Amino acid sequence: MIKVITFDLWNTLFSNKSYSELRLKQFFQFLQERNIFLPFDKFEEVFHTKFHFSEVTFEEIEFRHIYTEDRISRVLESIDIQVPKSDIEMLKGKFESEILHDPPQLKIGIKKTLEILAPDYQVGLISNTGVTPGKTINRVLDEYNVLQYFDSMVYSDETGLFKPHPKMFEIPLERFNCKPQNAIHIGDMLETDVKGAQDFKMKTIWLNDKNSPRSTEILPDYEIKQISEVIQIIQELS
Ligand SMILES: [Mg+2]
Repeated sequence: MIKVITFDLWNTLFSNKSYSELRLKQFFQFLQERNIFLPFDKFEEVFHTKFHFSEVTFEEIEFRHIYTEDRISRVLESIDIQVPKSDIEMLKGKFESEILHDPPQLKIGIKKTLEILAPDYQVGLISNTGVTPGKTINRVLDEYNVLQYFDSMVYSDETGLFKPHPKMFEIPLERFNCKPQNAIHIGDMLETDVKGAQDFKMKTIWLNDKNSPRSTEILPDYEIKQISEVIQIIQELS
């Protein structure tokens, strides 16, 4: 008996969209405006390693959320540059609001699927936010007129933790007073969405609309090619 349905955000509800190149250019320009001149390719490398924490694993940081100001500070530290705190705040504001100028697409079938499921189930969102914080993502979801279907939003920048940390799955179920076996999570990432929810004893649907190779270790309960397939699965389970 399913009572609660939780969705991942990036590449599940939204098509993936990267603002990384834009932020790299904005950061580089910010330095130039302060008369700090570095070769672009050197800065690019620093940016990719330090801003994106690419040399660090989730395990090493114990699944703690990475905040934008820490990303910026790490870049500045590694090139040995000090700037006033107000400058870091300004950059952070720029990076975090970029999505509003050029929002990602809502995937096909999302609105209809939510419209059908929302009256009969508690619906939640569980998202590892990158740079864009949850409160800004809510504005985009509202623009698409789908925020109304959600009863609970769990964002890593608000909990301080990344999926697959069990706390990310525990929070919405506690809010709904629902046992994990009565809940199902839908997402595109095997390691964070499927394994995270399974470790928490939830049922899982893997959205594999990119035809990614299956894993022999992480086995979702269901695999789908498009989001509207969740309606039938959930109705059969209920
Ligand atoms: Mg995702």
